[in-house]
Amino acid sequence: MATETAGAHEALYARHRQVLPEWLATYYTQPIELTHGEGRHVWDAEGNRYLDFFGGILTTMTAHALPEVAAAVAGQAGRLLHSSTLYLSSQAVELAERIARLSGIPDARVFFTTSGTEANDTALLLATSYRRSNQILALRNSYHGRSFSAIGITGNSAWSPTSLSPLQTLYVHGGVRSRGPYAHLSDAQFIAACVADLEDVLGQAGGTVAALIAEPVQGVGGFTLPPDGLFAAFKQVLDRHGILWITDEVQTGWGRTGEHFWGWQAHGKAGPPDILTFAKGIGNGMSMGGVVARAEVMNCLTANSISTFGGSPVTAAAALANLGYLIDHDLPGNARRVGGLLKSRLDAIGAGLGVVREVRGRGLMLGVELVVPGTDQPSAQAAGMVLEAAREQGLLIGKGGRAGNVLRIAPPLSLTVAEAEEGAAALESALKAAQTAL
Ligand code: PLP
Repeated sequence: MATETAGAHEALYARHRQVLPEWLATYYTQPIELTHGEGRHVWDAEGNRYLDFFGGILTTMTAHALPEVAAAVAGQAGRLLHSSTLYLSSQAVELAERIARLSGIPDARVFFTTSGTEANDTALLLATSYRRSNQILALRNSYHGRSFSAIGITGNSAWSPTSLSPLQTLYVHGGVRSRGPYAHLSDAQFIAACVADLEDVLGQAGGTVAALIAEPVQGVGGFTLPPDGLFAAFKQVLDRHGILWITDEVQTGWGRTGEHFWGWQAHGKAGPPDILTFAKGIGNGMSMGGVVARAEVMNCLTANSISTFGGSPVTAAAALANLGYLIDHDLPGNARRVGGLLKSRLDAIGAGLGVVREVRGRGLMLGVELVVPGTDQPSAQAAGMVLEAAREQGLLIGKGGRAGNVLRIAPPLSLTVAEAEEGAAALESALKAAQTAL
């Protein structure tokens, strides 16, 4: 590896530890600083080049330093950085028109935020206002963000920054400060959730339930797919009770799963959701999120619900350029083709290694679940070792999962076949090194 600025990372990490939270330590023993990127590659402050299989936690949707996005940002930044939601914005209108059309939701309205957490908070506000109830159904092992209300619907207490349980979350709504009796579908994992659980919890909830919120494929939960037909079956029950379905597409949106533009479309018979939330990839790294809902639901937002930075001209310009590139170059189709090849390759690698329990996912959202070799026991240690070894091989990946034992692979959607091959070879070496060392 190159060492132009040897020691730069060590010196910066020493300063980092004095002023920033320590969570970086849960990823790498020696974190690195990324200084620039191009296409599917990034470079660090010591001059090393990496193939990026995690794209800034799924934010780099198309490619690093995409010239179209860079030009849109620079052009708009040179004219007007911010105008606030008090004024018209041609960029925000055009982007909302495109997203409303793509969403599949009839008579759709779009509300822009600056993050996925804020998008989900807004979705909860809409659902609870529309249904006049603060009861929300969430799934075990789900992750929806880090605000107090998002923590309240996080289905794994390990991902909450405090020891707050969902039942202790407080909600302020309609001037009434109330304790949110949030109901969880079951203590089982997402994959075990079934319609009987839903009927059960509705029986226990009593009164009105506002909405069910769910990720079509669980992201932080380890790229876990629901059983076929689960959401279609849920939807029938929800419709019978008038309960809204919120689909959190923060990770699954924009064609990442290859087969469909949105994760909800994989659940064909379920039809469109009542509310859809998005973020991450839309800005290709610029901070943008949002909510799509039918007009009658969206109109529950009051004039005081404006977001100061939501849909700013610069982020909207970036998102328009990014979305245009994605569609013009059929990157969802590329995710399907290249993701399919990559999955086959990882399946073959995993079949020969005891440390790999399962390779799963769709498109360019692939999870590799690791275990103590020869057992079914989840191994977070193995995931940590593979992450470090992959980086040594010039490959960046993510990790997650209920037990921290799932490698998460989510490269920019423009990944080429050659790069998929190169990444798979690096991952194979890293997996073998971890298996030997365990
Ligand atoms: N929803 C899902 C499914 C996520 O994966 C995340 C973040 O990882 C969020 C919401 C929160 O988004 P943000 O970090 O932009 O607030």
